[in-house]
Amino acid sequence: MNDPLDDLMAVVPKAVAREPLARHSTFAIGGPADYFVEAETREQLEGLCRLCRDRRWPLFPIGQGSNLLVGDGGIRGVVVRLRGAFETISFEADVLIAGAGVLLPVLAKECAKRGLAGAEFLAGVPGTIGGGLMTNAGTPEGDLGSLVRSVEAVNADGIWETILRDKIDFSYRRSNLAGRLVTGAVLQLRAGNPRDIAELVEKQKTRRAEKQPLGTYNCGSVFKNPPGDHAARLVEAAGLKGRRIGGARISPKHANFIENDNHAAAADVKALIDLTRRTVKEKFGVDLETEVWTVGED
Ligand SMILES: Cc1cc2nc3c(=O)[nH]c(=O)nc-3n(C[C@H](O)[C@H](O)[C@H](O)COP(=O)(O)OP(=O)(O)OC[C@H]3O[C@@H](n4cnc5c(N)ncnc54)[C@H](O)[C@@H]3O)c2cc1C
Repeated sequence: MNDPLDDLMAVVPKAVAREPLARHSTFAIGGPADYFVEAETREQLEGLCRLCRDRRWPLFPIGQGSNLLVGDGGIRGVVVRLRGAFETISFEADVLIAGAGVLLPVLAKECAKRGLAGAEFLAGVPGTIGGGLMTNAGTPEGDLGSLVRSVEAVNADGIWETILRDKIDFSYRRSNLAGRLVTGAVLQLRAGNPRDIAELVEKQKTRRAEKQPLGTYNCGSVFKNPPGDHAARLVEAAGLKGRRIGGARISPKHANFIENDNHAAAADVKALIDLTRRTVKEKFGVDLETEVWTVGED
């Protein structure tokens, strides 16, 4: 039997073993992936899907790791990040065709440069189109799902499929694409006034810088907003702002953010999440649902 790493490198040259996923998450938290690969072409990705199918290795796509809490035990199997051919953007009039590896702020910037409106709200949202489609990334001004015309994905046999908008359910930070490996999307923008678009983009960035603890290791909002309320308001009212467990603390700047400010383990963050949910439930009777996705082993 060959070394699995040799077999992986035969289809995807950029492959390593025991890669710490803390390097691939905006939380800077997470144990190792058994194998971590960067697929740069469609041929590499097809080969990778088939190899993982044949060997029964779980295949886990990762984007920028900006909505993930990876367990301290890491992820078994192969973690893949889409690069190269999956990081390209092209336009046909007001339609954008983008690879799943394109960063959301880059998408917003490229649209703004061409005077195309509709994607301004993504200017300050970290992450890739692939991750953004899974989580239906958005703000009160809009969400990625509302721009989608179709999504391209590859299945375990290395076969490509196009999923049209009417077959996809997008809701608040959720889509029914989970379980698919998304490789790209076709998005519908609209012609707009370049000055207005640029202004909206700047407004988004300024508002975030004022309210969010940018420059710290975090995953954005930890909890979804419950209907008619704000998770941050509830956490703050529960007296938990600034509360620390181990190397993690509830941000003193924004109570719906948890910061890894001193080599936090995933277990620290999980304990802080549990404490918050328990306290908010006791004080206000509200069940907070997490927005961050917890993956991997403890
Ligand atoms: C400072 C900060 C602010 C944020 N603000 C917002 C905000 O305003 N609104 C918002 O919605 N989110 C926000 N987030 C969360 C995050 O930006 C989004 O959820 C983003 O869309 C995640 O993209 P990602 O590429 O990092 O996905 P990851 O975190 O890497 O992955 C998320 C999920 O998607 C899956 N996935 C990733 N790529 C693919 C693919 N190609 N095919 C199939 N599955 C895939 C992963 O397996 C995982 O299950 C914020 C995060 C941070 C750190």
